[in-house]
Amino acid sequence: MTPNSQPLQQIVDAIRSRHRFLLSSHSRPDGDSIGSQLAMAYALSALGKEVVAVNADPAPGPLMQFPGVADIQIAPRVEGTFDAAIIMECGDLRRTGVEGLERFFVINIDHHPGNSGYGQINWFDASAAACAEMVFELVRALGVPLTVEIATHIYLAILTDTGSFHYSSISPRTFDICRDCLEAGVDPVRVARNVYDSNNMGRLKLFGAVLSAMQLDPMGHIAIVYVDHEMARAAGGTYEDTEGLINLPLTVKEILAVVFFKQAEGDEYRVSMRSKGDIDIGAVAKEFGGGGHKNAAGCTVRGGIDALQKLFIAKIEQAIERDGLKSAS
Ligand code: 5GP
Ligand code: MN
Repeated sequence: MTPNSQPLQQIVDAIRSRHRFLLSSHSRPDGDSIGSQLAMAYALSALGKEVVAVNADPAPGPLMQFPGVADIQIAPRVEGTFDAAIIMECGDLRRTGVEGLERFFVINIDHHPGNSGYGQINWFDASAAACAEMVFELVRALGVPLTVEIATHIYLAILTDTGSFHYSSISPRTFDICRDCLEAGVDPVRVARNVYDSNNMGRLKLFGAVLSAMQLDPMGHIAIVYVDHEMARAAGGTYEDTEGLINLPLTVKEILAVVFFKQAEGDEYRVSMRSKGDIDIGAVAKEFGGGGHKNAAGCTVRGGIDALQKLFIAKIEQAIERDGLKSAS
């Protein structure tokens, strides 16, 4: 028996004995949030359960084309009663951005290091490349057939959460699951086109503006990108349009890490980071009160932008020194 089989069985039992479920995930949902949530929603519906999905923020535009995404309710708090709330892909209950979840029996399914264990049942597996790998296991354990809708959402989550199969969290299990998804009828070309080739012109122009202003650290290993409301407006794009931009500097061989500052309000910035190989950017995010994974992490900080950039470069340089140049090159 693996250490994880116990919470999995507890979740199966908890689902079987309950009827009305609320599903949620982290605010500003990504492909793994949406994919995990909707794979779960379709699986519960197949068991004859009542399901309502609620998130604080809408899905990124390209994900709206996938089945069921338009049915997710966007609300700052949950009304009504549910037998259980299943929270997926979310390290802490507050990160849902949805109030009122603590009133319910909470099932916490997640792969983020540092998950706070906020549920009545907590199933945590940091070795999962996407939370949807865990949802896949749960769907199997519930005896629900892998329909094309469920498989599409699981594949979508894995594709996006591994950065198109770039991150070090990928395992043989990842490909076993993807294989099963394809056998269930997923068209990987169509999923990739929907996710990555659904840009509008404003987004492309904004990418151009942000990348033109990109800076490098003195060693040339760290890319620093920045966007504010004015730049977005001038390019005819929005902040949501910058989704995925952070991965582009990493396509340069010498660049080992990227830090992306997005001005929120005044001197508050959302910081997203990405890295290659063993460089643990998650540890850097944690120092600033955020979190995430080794190769993809984020936090929110306040201060002057010049000082913040210097501070993050210094921390990332330390991470590169500590975790090694060799592994990423
Ligand atoms: P992104 O850069 O795409 O916003 O986030 C990358 C990863 O870091 C995601 O897995 C996300 O859940 C995590 N992350 C981003 N921002 C935060 C944050 O403020 N706190 C925590 N705990 N995790 C974050
Ligand atoms: Mn994830």
